Amino acid sequence: MNANTMESSVSNSTLLTLPPDLVSMRSQFFSPDASISLTRVEFDKLWPYMDNIYTLSNRGSLTKNGTRSIYYNCRLFRTKDYTPVDIAKRQRNRSCRTAIGCPAKLKVIYYGESRVEVSRQGSEMHNHDLQEIDAAKCNTAIRELAAGEVAKGYKPSHVHRNLRGITCEANRQVLEAAGGFNLALKDVHNAGKSWLATNKDIRLQGARDSWELQRAAAVETLSSKGWQVASLDTIRESDSKFFGILMLICMIFSYN
Ligand SMILES: [Zn+2]
Repeated sequence: MNANTMESSVSNSTLLTLPPDLVSMRSQFFSPDASISLTRVEFDKLWPYMDNIYTLSNRGSLTKNGTRSIYYNCRLFRTKDYTPVDIAKRQRNRSCRTAIGCPAKLKVIYYGESRVEVSRQGSEMHNHDLQEIDAAKCNTAIRELAAGEVAKGYKPSHVHRNLRGITCEANRQVLEAAGGFNLALKDVHNAGKSWLATNKDIRLQGARDSWELQRAAAVETLSSKGWQVASLDTIRESDSKFFGILMLICMIFSYN
């Protein structure tokens, strides 16, 4: 599937709006043939989708005219796998190769707050494809997307199933365009956990959600406790500005 068909067909996903040309931009960031010139705003929107590809190598100092260069190595630059001292403490257990000594490097130049230029540093190319990195590490945009769904009160298993597009094909396409084809349930758990660690009162967050989300959360909670739940909604239009919403949940206690 080429980038254009992929991106035009994901427009009906409700999960997130991808930056324009994301599939093509990810492949350009992965392997820039020419330097990519972006506004700072464009760059800041794109980088969370790219930050799994590279790892910080060196941060240059700020010059007098407000320019700063930042250098990155490919995430797979190591020649040896990191072995934790205590194997029992190892959190992640991915089956993919992670240390393949990739020599590719990236240079990002910030021209103040106005413009950013991204280019290949040196002449070395990646010795693997982009998929190999996406399989090894989720980018920030995907982790935040998963955490945002957990923040709405959904269980990680439901979030994972929803993102993977078991019930909505458009979600799966969004996830893949964003580089998340290999999103694992464990990634969703971890993203949710770090969100919960910094946002303790999940119920207040839930109360700001739309009524559809609050109803979905109620249905999910009751269903998980053995209730059989059906929902019925009606919209009453009193005047052009006011909509009254009636939510009726019929509950029949399950004897099982
Ligand atoms: Zn590489």
